Order: sequence, then structure tokens, then C-alpha cells
Amino acid sequence: MLAAGASVDERVIEGALRPQLLADFVGQQVVREQLSLVLDAAKARSATPDHILLSGPPGLGKTTLSMIVAHELNAPLRVTSGPAIQHAGDLAAILSSLTEGEVLFLDEIHRMARPAEEMLYVAMEDFRVDVIVGKGPGATAIPLELPPFTLVGATTRAGMLPGPLRDRFGFTGHLDFYAPAELERVLRRSAELLGVELTEEGGAEIAGRSRGTPRIANRLLRRVRDWAQVRGDGVLDLDASRAALEVYAVDERGLDRLDRSVLEALCRRFGGGPVGLSTLAVSVGEEPETVETVAEPFLVREGLLGRTPRGRIATPATWEHLGLTPPPGYSW
Ligand code: ADP
Repeated sequence: MLAAGASVDERVIEGALRPQLLADFVGQQVVREQLSLVLDAAKARSATPDHILLSGPPGLGKTTLSMIVAHELNAPLRVTSGPAIQHAGDLAAILSSLTEGEVLFLDEIHRMARPAEEMLYVAMEDFRVDVIVGKGPGATAIPLELPPFTLVGATTRAGMLPGPLRDRFGFTGHLDFYAPAELERVLRRSAELLGVELTEEGGAEIAGRSRGTPRIANRLLRRVRDWAQVRGDGVLDLDASRAALEVYAVDERGLDRLDRSVLEALCRRFGGGPVGLSTLAVSVGEEPETVETVAEPFLVREGLLGRTPRGRIATPATWEHLGLTPPPGYSW
């Protein structure tokens, strides 16, 4: 998924930093190995591989992997997304123009309209779309054969996919947050591609504040590069990294404005919870989905937020991180 709000320039750079081969894709050892087997086997059989589902928080490499799949198969790639498919006709138009072996990347697949979902089931399984002509009782379905293609679906919320859709993927890869050492490798590679000097300490500092996410690592790298060019000597070292990340309010654990406002609201306004997701989201002026998919996975993993059946709660680490004292009677 492209970062929301990113400028055109930033998107171009983001594209330029994407690895094109599985071998250049850092980390995600398990998914990489499984995927390479799926691709190698298909290549050996001269067949199109099974449909592939990639799930995980934003910025971990789902779009990049879909491009790698097409590249490794030497196949053309078509890119679309769930929100762009609001009617079955939108999907029919895409499917009916696919060429043999093409890779169709469907980002945010969980946000596709329901009628289109049903059309997709048939297309995935039987390589066919039923084009409905006419309306009401006189409507007829004209079956249209499709060439074999590979669907790569991406979702930040695998749990929201209906079972029948999930079952039609032959392979599901779940991407997890990256370890700091892996992010350092991503950063070294990106620094080389951008032609900037990144010291080991600078790389470690940026990696540690990147929320386990390559997209954030690359974005912070560009901000540190700006700082080093304008206020420093052009080298991305420890001092430049610290100074730049302070300007952009990224704290030492990598929490950004959204993360902190969620935690601040949870502690200051709701006494540490439990508070429902929607209420929490409204209080920070965000959509519940943004809070749930962008901020929460990392905060939960860091032990800074708890999810209970009664709502979101602060942990002892939350209070400590914000430098606040829990209210009397607060228990964990
Ligand atoms: P998603 O689709 O999961 O939101 P993307 O595939 O768009 O994430 O990745 C965001 C950015 O992070 C890309 O510009 C890509 O260069 C970089 N990136 C993601 N994963 C990796 C990786 N494993 N190795 C190197 N760079 C990566």
C-alpha cells in the first residue's frame, strides 16, 4: 500500500527503493522461502502459480512482493485495489482484459464490494466471469473464459476476509514486523541507492525508531538525509539521525504523532481504559480502521497497549512511556 498523503516525489523514491528480486528482499525468511518454492515449482511446470494472499500491517512489503512475483515470473503486472472496485462491473472490466499468465495485484482486498467478491470467487477457481446483460427477470449471464492468471491479494486485516475468499488462495503469507538488524540492512541498501553515506551508528539509530517497518525506515532515512544536507555535513551519522528525528517528533521507540495521541487519549481522557476502539479513534480524530491497522499492531507488540474484550487498555509500560502516573485504584 502506498503511504497515504505521500507526495508524488516521495512515491517515486519509494518505488525506486523497492527490491525487484526475491533475493534482494530483506527478512521475512519463512514467507520468502515458501514463496520461492511456489514460484520455482510453477516455473518448472511452465504453469501459472496458485493465487497468493499476503497479509500484515502497512509498509511491510506486500506490494513489493507482488511486484517481485511478476518480475520473477517474467509476467506482466496489473495493479488495482479493493476501494477501486465498487461494482462487479469494475472487476469484470479488469478480469476480461487480463492476458495469459498476468499477475493481478489486488491491494486492500478486504475493502472490495460484496458483489465483486462473488465474481472473484468464480474467476479464481474456474477462470471465468459471468457477464450479466440486462436487468431484472430478463437478465442473462454470459460466461466469458479467462486466461489463467495469478491473483496476489494483499490485506492488513486477514480476519475480515470471508472464508470462501480466503480458501481460494493456494498460499497465504503473513508478514511480520522486522527486527532492527533487518531494518539496518534495508537502510544500507536504500542509502546506497540514494547515493548517501550512512554510518553504522546512524543506521542503527534510524532502524531502532522505525516501528519494525521498512517503509518507515526509508522515510526516516530521507528525513535524516534532508537534515544532514541542510544542517550537517551530508553524512548520516548518529548525531544527524538523532537531531533529524527529534525535529520530526519520532521518539526513541519509534512512536509517532498518531501512536502518541492514541496512548495519551487512552491514559489522560479514559484513565487507562478499557475504552472501545471507535470512541478512542474519535477522540484522536481518526478513522477506527486507521487506529486499528496503522497504530495498534505495533503498540500491542511493544506491550504499550492491551486489547481486551471490554476495550483497549493501558499497560504499566504505557504509563511509564508517557511519564504519567496511573490513577489511584488502577489495576493491570
Ligand atoms: P505494503 O504493500 O505492505 O504496504 P510496500 O511493499 O509498499 O508495503 O513496502 C513499502 C516500502 O518498503 C517499499 O518502498 C519497499 O522499498 C520497502 N520494503 C518493504 N519490504 C522490504 C524488504 N523486505 N526489503 C527491502 N525493502 C522493503
